[in-house]
Amino acid sequence: MSNPYKNAIKQLDSVARYIEIDKNILKKLKTPDKVIKVDLKIKMDNGKDKVFKAFRSQHNNARGEYKGGIRYHPQVAEDEVKALSIWMTWKCSVVGIPYGGGKGGVICDPKKMSEGELERLSREYMKAIYKYIGPKIDVPAPDVNTNSQIMDWMRDEYEKQVGEKAPGVITGKSVGKGGSLGRTEATGLGGFYILEQLIDKVRLDKKKVKIAIQGFGNAAYWFAVFAKKEGYKIVALSDSKGGIVDLVGLDPEKVMEYKVKTGSVVGYEGSKKISNQELLEFKVDVLVPAALENQITKKNADKIQAKYIIELANGPVTPGADKILHKNGIVDLPDVLCNAGGVTVSYFEWMQNMKNEKWSKDKVFKKLKKIIDKAFLEMWKVYQKKTVNPRMAAYILAVDRVVKAMKLRGDSK
Ligand code: NAD
Repeated sequence: MSNPYKNAIKQLDSVARYIEIDKNILKKLKTPDKVIKVDLKIKMDNGKDKVFKAFRSQHNNARGEYKGGIRYHPQVAEDEVKALSIWMTWKCSVVGIPYGGGKGGVICDPKKMSEGELERLSREYMKAIYKYIGPKIDVPAPDVNTNSQIMDWMRDEYEKQVGEKAPGVITGKSVGKGGSLGRTEATGLGGFYILEQLIDKVRLDKKKVKIAIQGFGNAAYWFAVFAKKEGYKIVALSDSKGGIVDLVGLDPEKVMEYKVKTGSVVGYEGSKKISNQELLEFKVDVLVPAALENQITKKNADKIQAKYIIELANGPVTPGADKILHKNGIVDLPDVLCNAGGVTVSYFEWMQNMKNEKWSKDKVFKKLKKIIDKAFLEMWKVYQKKTVNPRMAAYILAVDRVVKAMKLRGDSK
């Protein structure tokens, strides 16, 4: 597997071929501002102490507070966290929300830990990093294997350490503990707004647009619900156990009911079973990878029949596959844009916390649409003008904004 941090630097060097970046600024952008490394010692349920390695990478704050999730996973690595913090800088920049990039990670296997152990680990992590973060410094959020309960524990621990209320220290909290309405739908809905913009640009009749979605978790489900409601046809869906096809169109709400009952989408009434590979290669107009990274690679990129890809997952297309898709004329809209609905509503949560307000879901959705539509149109303009692929267009836009903000604060010296 290639090193994600090296990939992030390579990408930055590629962007530097299209826009002017001062050499001091480029150098600074290649290294996170700060990487905090800590050992967390907690008591396990069996009475023994165990030490967990943990990180927080703060990449860049030229456009605003560091922002990014905390990941719990056995394979978390320092270079991965650093790369993810760089990508957060671009993601916040591409949608124009006033944040920089950060990311955290703890090397652990949460599936093998009790709730009590997870709470002690989460509180210990906050005790170790609270001096470096804060509502006006660095605002973490959930990521892989972390959820609103973990965010609630972390907010509580932060407040204990600093001795004051600070709901804006972390986002992705439960609604009762300062979370925002609409956060659950946000990533799928943001992806759906991208779909609407794309279909408008390429002038297709949405009633005739066939969509295949890989994965059927939070992001995929809400994307599918909003798309179906608007008349698009979801013809294929999948989860880790396999995929299903129905050319007449699947009803995502009914499929979810079935999945909750049986544990998988496979076997859903009236559908035909296919493998995940077959789903990716299925003849549709729009393919939406919404599960894992590295799903479209050099091995299968030539077999993709979709004309458009909306990357709801993070990193579903490898750099090698990227080139093949572009050569084959497939328009692949990048993750930094397509799944930015999540971080955008996190920003809304933070704004509500800072102003002591509670917004309605309707207000959240309308504000999200405005931000995502604008970001898409800005990316599309660069894409058309510079004859690059949409990923490079998004990066050009994002990096340019960060570079300008760095210049303003004198980072070129
Ligand atoms: P989730 O855990 O709710 O769902 C993941 C889905 O992928 C599940 O349906 C699972 O069965 C399926 N899956 C797992 N392995 C698979 C495989 N081999 N083939 C097909 N399907 C498989 O996760 P999520 O929150 O929906 O996140 C999905 C992706 O979107 C991730 O890449 C995540 O980083 C990205 N993302 C999510 C959010 C968010 O707010 N939820 C925000 C930004 C990015």
